[in-house]
Amino acid sequence: MNDLARELETALRAVRSASVATRAVQASLQGSALEKSDRSPVTVADYAAQALICRALGAAFAADPIIAEEDMDTLRAPEAEALRAQLLTLLQPFGLATIDAVLEAVGRGAANTAGERAWTLDPIDGTKGFLRGDHYAIALALLIDGRPEIGVLGCPGLDCDGRRGTLLWARRGQGAFHAPLDLDGDGDPRAQARPVQVSAQLEPAALRLCESFESGHSAHGQSAQMQAQWGMTAAPVRMDSQAKYGVLARGEAEVYARLPTRADYREKIWDHAAGVLLVEEAGGRVSDLDGRPLDFSAGRTLRHNRGVLASHGPHHEQLLAALGRVIS
Ligand code: AMP
Ligand code: MG
Repeated sequence: MNDLARELETALRAVRSASVATRAVQASLQGSALEKSDRSPVTVADYAAQALICRALGAAFAADPIIAEEDMDTLRAPEAEALRAQLLTLLQPFGLATIDAVLEAVGRGAANTAGERAWTLDPIDGTKGFLRGDHYAIALALLIDGRPEIGVLGCPGLDCDGRRGTLLWARRGQGAFHAPLDLDGDGDPRAQARPVQVSAQLEPAALRLCESFESGHSAHGQSAQMQAQWGMTAAPVRMDSQAKYGVLARGEAEVYARLPTRADYREKIWDHAAGVLLVEEAGGRVSDLDGRPLDFSAGRTLRHNRGVLASHGPHHEQLLAALGRVIS
């Protein structure tokens, strides 16, 4: 049996090094954002993380498709010239010596369909948070037959053991773990791993909600109505990126709701694959707003699903019903 040990080791190493490299970019806030065709921002850090992780996966698993967020069109455009130069400066110390090598690595992430086995990558999840100096995540998952089998999240803004920066990961059937991003020594994060588990809270009024910081990504008004009806008293925790799934997996919130703000928006698989496995392996539940499991086998989007609800478990059905009343 393939226990995917080499896949997990490769994924952990790649996500950790991309997390450390992009954290330095965020700290210096060098380089501004370009606008993609969908008007969302993209930075040198998005491309750097995608290049580093795609190169590592390509070296270890050359045949595996990688479905990553960033495409080459924006990066190749004339107005991206300054960004390409910054990218090269950033990646040369990592051995990506020419812009062609960088473009080749980024371009490895252009797969569209998962097939039997594929990786999903969000190189900087929560780019808007990254630019604000807030939370972001580097999210990598391995799908086999359309199901996440490995999920790794680098969360430079989440604390672990009183230190800034957390690596979280899960392997299906083997639990969910975290470790500080900055390891003691330069060892394997698994040597410093501690298991994480969802909250054991059974008191409905005590449930804590987390949701997107960006009101364009989840309907804050509807979640507030649901909280009021339910009697949840804590203010929602608003943060960018799949760090929300990490917070839920660690038992620091009980509910993560993603409520559509537009009927035509389809969630992207790289925004959820790693986080979903993490929460499930920590003992929680994830579904769409109709109670269906998220279907990662339908291309780049979750086109068979509507919204997302992740929870610690015991109230999942009741929460779905409450959200249904608010949304309809
Ligand atoms: P978050 O940090 O939770 O706000 O989610 C960030 C992700 O939201 C990005 O990676 C985008 O793929 C995704 N996104 C962009 N537009 C929308 C939208 N209208 N509704 C939901 N998610 C969106
Ligand atoms: Mg994202």
